Amino acid sequence: MEERIHNKGMGSVVKDIIAIPSGEIEFVLFKKKFPVYIFIIKTTQGNILFDSGFSSTIFSDSYNPEQYLGSAHKFANINLSDDQKAIHMLKRHNIETGNIGTVVLSHLHFDHAGGILDFQEFNKEKIFVHELEYEEIYSTYTMFGDYGKSILSFVKNVRKINGDRYDLFGNGEVTLLHTPGHTKGHISLLYKSCKTGDNYLFLGDVSYTVEDFLNNNYSGSVYRKTARDTFDKIRKIIIDEQVKYVLTSHSLGTCEV
Ligand SMILES: [Zn+2]
Ligand SMILES: [Zn+2]
Repeated sequence: MEERIHNKGMGSVVKDIIAIPSGEIEFVLFKKKFPVYIFIIKTTQGNILFDSGFSSTIFSDSYNPEQYLGSAHKFANINLSDDQKAIHMLKRHNIETGNIGTVVLSHLHFDHAGGILDFQEFNKEKIFVHELEYEEIYSTYTMFGDYGKSILSFVKNVRKINGDRYDLFGNGEVTLLHTPGHTKGHISLLYKSCKTGDNYLFLGDVSYTVEDFLNNNYSGSVYRKTARDTFDKIRKIIIDEQVKYVLTSHSLGTCEV
């Protein structure tokens, strides 16, 4: 599947899913760069945007990585051009904010939730975040400098879900799954396509790459023990829910199960 969906620059379209690259994150210590993907999922209940990429704040004249990212600037650089930001990349796929019915934020890190600041007019009732993510961002607040402040004020009034599973539309088509480990309130998204009959699992940052997931490499897991439990839980879900494809947010290598 990887070859079929790989199409550099513009993103990749497979059936009812669009994987859109939106800049890259560079981990200074590991000398590694990872692309950042956002996803459009075309459900029977409208388009879902899964994650929103970086914030445009970095294009302001006053942008200062140390001030914006807090201590995170020591280990992470943001590589993003104006035309790569989420809202512009979506337009290249003819998707305006008005064509998006629901936004799901896997977690509140700057490379997943920052772009939501460009959706000021979007109905906040249609933006979903797990409530434990707020504990997380408060506890790591100093790590994120101004980014933390702006995202906190924006996401104050969005829809907070809790518990282990949340049936997004009440018809079993999309289920949000609590998959902590990378952060406390991280969520993954299970999509059962009515059009194709295939089931997809979007893992966000459960692991940075599909290979890491398959190899039990807890890359980026802050809470190791929790991450191990989450990996076990996901393997069970893949079997129980007959998941066909697994996708992560920093690698388009897609695992065909
Ligand atoms: Zn993250
Ligand atoms: Zn990430």
